[in-house]
Amino acid sequence: MIPSGLSRRGLIAAGAAACASPALAAGAGSFEYKGTLVQGGYLIGRSAPRSMVSLNGEAAGRAAADGVFIVGFDRDEAPSAMVSLHEDQGRTLQERLAVGPSVYDIQRIDGLPDDQVEPTAPALLARIAREAELKAKAFASRDDGEGFKDGFILPVAATRRSSSFGGQRILNGKAGRPHYGVDLAAPVGAPIIAPAPGLVVLAEPTLHFEGGLTLIDHGQGLIGMFLHQSRQFVRAGDRVERGQRIGLVGQTGRATGPHLCWRLKWRAKNMDPSLMVGPPLNRG
Ligand SMILES: [Zn+2]
Repeated sequence: MIPSGLSRRGLIAAGAAACASPALAAGAGSFEYKGTLVQGGYLIGRSAPRSMVSLNGEAAGRAAADGVFIVGFDRDEAPSAMVSLHEDQGRTLQERLAVGPSVYDIQRIDGLPDDQVEPTAPALLARIAREAELKAKAFASRDDGEGFKDGFILPVAATRRSSSFGGQRILNGKAGRPHYGVDLAAPVGAPIIAPAPGLVVLAEPTLHFEGGLTLIDHGQGLIGMFLHQSRQFVRAGDRVERGQRIGLVGQTGRATGPHLCWRLKWRAKNMDPSLMVGPPLNRG
């Protein structure tokens, strides 16, 4: 893992400052929202209760009973996004949003075992396929909650951020998938806490790539992932509160040192979880 880029942190600050947040004041045909409108960021809005939400014309579930909803932006989100709300009374509200660019670093990791980069053994490929199915099932969760709405706290008291979100990975010299997490370096055994309330939808101790992996649906399919754990204290079906201990930091799966890899996904969108830290609805 390479040290995190200060440039990325600078960008986060710049993105937060530039986030076109019209102070939760809606006009006619528009709706209230706040957020960090950059690639990897998010929007939290308020609509009529149970409005149907869509992003770029694609259905994306319903707002909560109090009207709160979330939309996530992918690492590679296009520069313009259309968010639409279809109210039960038949009214449709729309906002075309500018999604700012994020810049990602290059992350070289060498010395990984071959079976962690390009697995070929049939038994291992079958195991990876089985594990992919388990994860896909968990990612399909759409819990009718809104654990995201009061903001997130960091899930671990990290000594440093060892790898930032979105970096292009070069594994053993070959281009791999981007890094869809934030790596928080901490010793093995350091406690991991739930960064926001939610429903545990998967807790598996020995996945090939992720090692000890827990997935939490923070509401409306916003799913947090906690990788490489050495121990887990929750099971699928458990409800967790913000700050509840869910596991311990480890080095299981594809990890070159003890850390928590924290990821966040909203439907097919890979988001930067560090952008969620803080109280979004109160952010100036
Ligand atoms: Zn990671």
